[in-house]
Amino acid sequence: MYKTRAYSAASAASPLARTSIPRRDPTERDVQIEILNCGICHSDLHYKRDEWHDVMPAVYPCVPGHEIVGRVTKVGSGVTKYKPGDLVGVGCLVDSDRTCRECREGLEQFCPNMVLTYGSPDRHGTAPVTYGGYSDSIVVDERFVLRIPNNLNLAAAAPLLCAGITTYSPMRHWGVSEGKKVGVVGLGGLGHMGVKFAHAFGAHTVVFTTSPNKREDALRLGADEVVVSKDANEMKKHAGSFDFILDCVAAPHDVNAFINLLGRDGNLTMVGAPDKPLPVAVFGLIFGRKSFSGSPIGGLPETQEMLDFCGTNNITADVEVIPIQKINEAYERMLKSDVKYRFSIDMASLKSE
Ligand SMILES: [Zn+2]
Ligand SMILES: [Zn+2]
Repeated sequence: MYKTRAYSAASAASPLARTSIPRRDPTERDVQIEILNCGICHSDLHYKRDEWHDVMPAVYPCVPGHEIVGRVTKVGSGVTKYKPGDLVGVGCLVDSDRTCRECREGLEQFCPNMVLTYGSPDRHGTAPVTYGGYSDSIVVDERFVLRIPNNLNLAAAAPLLCAGITTYSPMRHWGVSEGKKVGVVGLGGLGHMGVKFAHAFGAHTVVFTTSPNKREDALRLGADEVVVSKDANEMKKHAGSFDFILDCVAAPHDVNAFINLLGRDGNLTMVGAPDKPLPVAVFGLIFGRKSFSGSPIGGLPETQEMLDFCGTNNITADVEVIPIQKINEAYERMLKSDVKYRFSIDMASLKSE
């Protein structure tokens, strides 16, 4: 076991502050990573504030962070995929049972025994729970380590590990491709990645936003059209015309307005997670055989596929890079959607403390 610097919260109400945490020494299959950047996800904030108490009660001290990129510093004797110096990433998962049907199919995101990067019981017993990426080092089994293409800016690549795969996976599942008409609802951390992927897949990409002032940015990110969703006339023009809509809005909103825009066999997938139930008008689904679904991150093979796709197509997130000392301020700003479009922590700032 060794100690490493980190930022942790002692309770739901406390700010994140400098601390030191234990990490295990790399075992045979482990990869030790020096963390260079870590993206800030909304889940980090929800978990730290214990807002998902009913589903996933927070354990303190907590160290969030699951959009990790860094460089391999050491590998165990049985590691075959990585060597010191490699650029790698770690997303939301650091382990799973590897034997269930989901794991056998490379769909670890559905494994009933998955180990989350932070807040899951630590099977190695290094600490009560796993500690995430707001830290300068992490040790992860090579199966859960991903290769980061060398041409990508690292700070901007970090959010691919959660925001990227969360939007990429449902688009692949529902066949987003050239000739399809695809909508993205909400232009934030998830939505802006959704726009980049839909555009890169060759789909006709339409952004729905409540803020007309996001129009220019949406077009810059790759949208072909921008619709202000509060404008009923503008919405009507698109009725029954979409193959797929990715809904990235985590606040209560009228999903039926978007289901009405789907064509026959169209699908609307939620990746935003409102904490209250959303009313769905079932007739809207029946006429047109439409479907309404949700999707979490992706499995390890698909996450690697997404990273390779990003390398080939030069796709990264739009980030504001911050020193870790600004983390609490960043959380406040994130609550006000005051970020374009993701914060990425430069972990060199932690070493300088
Ligand atoms: Zn996340
Ligand atoms: Zn499993």
